[in-house]
Amino acid sequence: MTARPGRHRTVAALAATALSVAVCPLGTATAAPQHPPLTRAAHTHTVDCRAVKCVALTFDDGPTQYTAALLTTLERSHALATFFLIGPHALQYRADALREYRDGDAIGDHTVTHPHLTLLPRPGIDQQIDVAAQQIASVTGHRPVLFRPPFGAWNARVREAAGAAGMAVVLWNVDPRDWKHHDPAFIDRAVLAGVRPGAIVVLHDRYATTPLAVPRLIDVLRARGYDLVTVPQLFATSGGLRSGVVYHHGPGP
Ligand SMILES: [Zn+2]
Repeated sequence: MTARPGRHRTVAALAATALSVAVCPLGTATAAPQHPPLTRAAHTHTVDCRAVKCVALTFDDGPTQYTAALLTTLERSHALATFFLIGPHALQYRADALREYRDGDAIGDHTVTHPHLTLLPRPGIDQQIDVAAQQIASVTGHRPVLFRPPFGAWNARVREAAGAAGMAVVLWNVDPRDWKHHDPAFIDRAVLAGVRPGAIVVLHDRYATTPLAVPRLIDVLRARGYDLVTVPQLFATSGGLRSGVVYHHGPGP
């Protein structure tokens, strides 16, 4: 069997080597040959974001009916992203959640019903995190180690609950407010105006307009010298992510 190209442009050579020993517990992907998919090797490959300009695009609230088209864009671009899934959405759109996993995208927990967690007592927070984690794991085979609280609303209780669940709390430092501005050109301008090396960008694959902003966003970010990495890759050379710790951005050169 010939090695499939890695989606991450800087790791293609290493990924080709690593693929021969990579173990995919979910079997072999069968995407169309013009969209070379999947390498879990890319997901775990180390990019030194202290030395090169990295940006992590993150997508919340999916999967939805708009996720498949977004994944096609990412696959064609050989770009990686991070998805924070609502547990029941993972069950409803199993194929898309699996495709994210198989592509090498990182997958995080975004609760069951998307509540304001700061309004809940600790047992309610625990339940939102744990049930969603079980739902996601039932699809991908892997329990998430990343958590994003809905609305970015967190307090000490939320942070402690995430820590107890073995998850890092991943927020963001670039927000084009795509939930308000359903306009791809606006989203691109807002992200590009705010992005810095190490940025974590919050987007949503629950709106039809957001995936339409991504092709140009990827092109311009790469033209500016950015590597598109997952959240775990962003922190891989700066100590990694720790459960119960809140992150807004990663390192930069
Ligand atoms: Zn959300």
